[in-house]
Amino acid sequence: MTLDLVTIPCRTDNYAFLIHDAASGETGVVDVPDSAPVLAMLDAKGWRLTHVLITHHHDDHIAGVEALRGATGARVFGARADANRLPPLDVALAEGDSLVIGGETVQVLEVPGHTIGHIAFHLPASGYAFTADSLMAGGCGRLFEGTPAQMWSSLAKLAALPPGTLICSGHEYTASNLRFAASVDPDNPDLHKRIADTAQARARNLATVPSLLSLERATNPFLRAGTLADFTDLRARKDRF
Ligand code: ZN
Ligand code: FE
Repeated sequence: MTLDLVTIPCRTDNYAFLIHDAASGETGVVDVPDSAPVLAMLDAKGWRLTHVLITHHHDDHIAGVEALRGATGARVFGARADANRLPPLDVALAEGDSLVIGGETVQVLEVPGHTIGHIAFHLPASGYAFTADSLMAGGCGRLFEGTPAQMWSSLAKLAALPPGTLICSGHEYTASNLRFAASVDPDNPDLHKRIADTAQARARNLATVPSLLSLERATNPFLRAGTLADFTDLRARKDRF
């Protein structure tokens, strides 16, 4: 069984995602940068929103949550660790918790680093992982709150998912992430192919998210760092790039 997946561009460079089970009609959204494009897509599809999943507390991931809750009555799920700074949660989640959407299990992974309370959602049956600003296409989130060691272990957790997993990350930052990647990994042919593919997609205004975990493992410098010290150095260099 595979849930339908729809990527919705929001604001300047954010993404929201819909997951939908045709049999039950249940529909979830992961992050709500803005309610209007999400409501428009629900309307276009004729889908009824039942679940709102939040990855972390930054405004560009939660700004539309209350409007969606008001418009649809959907239940809101987010990290217990950040309950004090998220919209009111109907269900508070921690590592190892799970929920069910349309009969499919959604597993909660704690992935601190970008923020302390950042969580990811893994749907093993469909092969989706919603990683927002932890593992990103060609990169990883900036360390606003966590330590390099926290992000390093968060990325290791995500990198251990099956290689065919679709990584649904939170922003269209791929082209700039890959420019940095090429500066530190210039002799990687998979990376150069990805840079060309990304340029083609962006020229046609297509999203480069989601991306396959196997491609991230082949081209994302933060997954290719050999040690925590290498990762720490890379992350600092990216901040200055
Ligand atoms: Zn963020
Ligand atoms: Fe963000």
